[in-house]
Amino acid sequence: MSRLEGRVALITGAAGGIGSAVARRFAQEGAALCLADRTAPRAVLDPMLEAGGCAIGAAADVTHRPDIEAAVRATLEAFGRLDILVNVAGIVSMGPAATLPEEEWDRVLAVNLKGSFLCCQAVIPAMRQQGYGRIVNLGSVIGKNGGNPRPWIDPGEQTRASNAAYGASKAGVHAITFFLARELAADGITVNAVAPGPVASAMTADFPATLKALIPVGRMGRAEDVAEAVLFLASEAAGFVTGEVLDVNGGMWAD
Ligand code: NAD
Repeated sequence: MSRLEGRVALITGAAGGIGSAVARRFAQEGAALCLADRTAPRAVLDPMLEAGGCAIGAAADVTHRPDIEAAVRATLEAFGRLDILVNVAGIVSMGPAATLPEEEWDRVLAVNLKGSFLCCQAVIPAMRQQGYGRIVNLGSVIGKNGGNPRPWIDPGEQTRASNAAYGASKAGVHAITFFLARELAADGITVNAVAPGPVASAMTADFPATLKALIPVGRMGRAEDVAEAVLFLASEAAGFVTGEVLDVNGGMWAD
């Protein structure tokens, strides 16, 4: 049985490691897709279309409200509804708090937190009208655990690991998940997040081996691990789950 048959999903950050894995998994389950990124993600979209999939691309900077609204409009025009939003677009930021430039703080918060919020806002009218919606945000273990570095063991880890701006942006993503879940529950819209641990991708190319060794299941996460969790939260089967931040971190951090 196809778990997303008849459903329409808008995925931001669809050109990236996790976004493209979510897109491919959703396509396998029969969803129609709008794949959005800073430029339309042709490398993900084209093979999907060649395989007979139902998808469109959108160039949308998530910090720019008109871009997002245009992507939502394009989705509704193409498919007539919008059931699922997956907020994957994000950027990483590394280095010590003591020297973090103010502009870097603003940049990270703008993409990861404000961008996710603007996308949520943009899909609410259509989802409310349908009386059905699934929003899944990408949080992070870093929004919960104060970061990976153990500078008292290896001072070099601090400069190679996610910083306070990234952590604050992802903690903020968890917070908007809680708030919107309550606000939209009566409209049939669920709002959840997944909080991945380190996933092998361009974002974690420099992940220190000392930290990798601390992941109990003995490996980095895979984009497909995250996509599977997103699929569950985006499916009809998860209708009684809302306001949840689902850890996908190989046992690295349990709360
Ligand atoms: P990635 O760099 O492969 O993909 C991120 C995508 O977001 C890219 O395609 C990029 O173009 C897009 N993007 C960035 N800024 C944008 C903007 N302003 N507007 C539109 N699109 C924009 O990274 P990934 O590993 O696939 O991570 C995806 C998400 O998962 C991010 O939100 C990240 O914070 C989160 N996450 C990743 C990890 C990890 O270890 N990789 C762990 C926890 C959480």
